[in-house]
Amino acid sequence: MARVLILGGGFAAITAAQELMSRLGDDEIILVSKSSEFTFYPAIIPCIFGSLDFDIIRFDLVSMLAERGVRFIHGEVESINTSARKVSVAGDRMTYSIDYDYLLFAVGRRLETSSVRGLAEYAHQLLSIEGAERFKKAISEFETGTIVVGLCSGASLPVPVCESALALADAFADSIKAGKVRVKAVFPGSLQEAFAGANLFRNIEEEFRQKGVELITDFEVDVVESDRIKSRTGSVIEHDLLMLVPPFGGQLSLKSAGHVTDISGFANVNSLMQVEGVEHVYAAGDITAMAGPKFGYMAMRQGRVAAANIAAEITEQEPATVYQHTIEWAISERYTGPVFFHYGFWDETLDDFEGDAMFGMARKIRDRYGPIQGLETPGLCSAA
Ligand SMILES: Cc1cc2nc3c(=O)[nH]c(=O)nc-3n(C[C@H](O)[C@H](O)[C@H](O)COP(=O)(O)OP(=O)(O)OC[C@H]3O[C@@H](n4cnc5c(N)ncnc54)[C@H](O)[C@@H]3O)c2cc1C
Repeated sequence: MARVLILGGGFAAITAAQELMSRLGDDEIILVSKSSEFTFYPAIIPCIFGSLDFDIIRFDLVSMLAERGVRFIHGEVESINTSARKVSVAGDRMTYSIDYDYLLFAVGRRLETSSVRGLAEYAHQLLSIEGAERFKKAISEFETGTIVVGLCSGASLPVPVCESALALADAFADSIKAGKVRVKAVFPGSLQEAFAGANLFRNIEEEFRQKGVELITDFEVDVVESDRIKSRTGSVIEHDLLMLVPPFGGQLSLKSAGHVTDISGFANVNSLMQVEGVEHVYAAGDITAMAGPKFGYMAMRQGRVAAANIAAEITEQEPATVYQHTIEWAISERYTGPVFFHYGFWDETLDDFEGDAMFGMARKIRDRYGPIQGLETPGLCSAA
């Protein structure tokens, strides 16, 4: 009997756990996460700008995993010893050393908020429910001035910035026309770079133009102050309300596994999702060193590929399931509300997620939030 240890409790980890359950028999699956809840991040935007309640976008992992026969351990991964095949986990009361036969590293990205001076003090963020709740409150109290939303260098999450800018433009449409409110969207490079060359950026530019969102590119945020941000080249943008996505980094615990990461600490993987240079270790999701923006649907696909290959190894077959790294989404012909991008979370364009816990949850949220107009005529954009 083999033991598979999954580190993380997000999109990649849960998908992998489900896939392993469906493929393995008596083997043991243990999932370790520092949070006992799963958060459905794509629904944060409808929570901020719509009537959706933050409480319904997270669910308890422990009972969901127990029902599926997966053992859950609440704790934070501290270090990994790939030679001894052991992981050290700091639990609530003690530190555990857990042996594994196969390891899946799926702990997501780390936010490097402290790498930009003033970011933690003066900028809102939407990468946690608590942060998103504070941003929502600040928007509800805002009357006149400039709202700036943007990406720091190294933040691989352009979509919520675009969605926030468009939703703000909707919310303050009259004030923008009257010259009382300005909405600015700031990117460290070009929009094309933010979307890794996928052609969608042209739709966004046009939407920004029509709604009066001012697009500012090639602005690498260096310093954040209470009323302005400064770029590395000395440019200044003044703000009365600010939301920035902090730089992303890999996880420190992975560094303890040896030379398996790129310079930013993300796991180097091959197309089978195996971590290069170590045996029996896989990685999936935001923690992997893949080019371009990071998406939940990629994490799910990677989790599924990793699980299929782990199951193959356990059953003494050659791992052969390959991950294809593509950026794809379904976008409605017209902008239809805070959810600008659909990705198959909100409709059925990516029907390979049918039956997944997250897909089911997305559907439930979508139904509660209300049907998104325009879904009947989606266009599908994709780029390799
Ligand atoms: C506002 C917002 C909107 C988004 N919208 C979309 C969208 O519309 N479509 C889309 O495809 N993607 C979207 N994303 C991106 C998507 O949420 C991520 O790509 C996805 O969450 C990555 O999944 P993951 O499993 O790799 O990591 P995560 O979902 O971040 O999960 C990481 C897990 O690891 C656990 N963990 C972390 N560190 C440790 C540790 N040291 N020890 C133990 N456990 C640990 C965490 O508790 C968590 O359970 C959005 C993200 C945000 C923030």
